[in-house]
Amino acid sequence: MTTQFEELLSFLTPRHENAALKTYQNTTAIACPSCDNPFHNLLICKKDLTSLNLDEPMNLCITTTPSGSPMIFTHKQ
Ligand SMILES: [Zn+2]
Repeated sequence: MTTQFEELLSFLTPRHENAALKTYQNTTAIACPSCDNPFHNLLICKKDLTSLNLDEPMNLCITTTPSGSPMIFTHKQ
């Protein structure tokens, strides 16, 4: 069975991955599950403590994966 989470990831393009974060780019303008606007990137935190270095001002929507990892949807302003 495919979860909503897996279905969402299947539409996104994987970009970067390091020990703390996995990044996906929303190349097909999927709507953010939180605010319904298309988001730019999805970040999945893989550690309990993760720092984000944002290059520019952006709006963030936050939820969690089925396994409880924080997921951050970024919206460029
Ligand atoms: Zn959003």
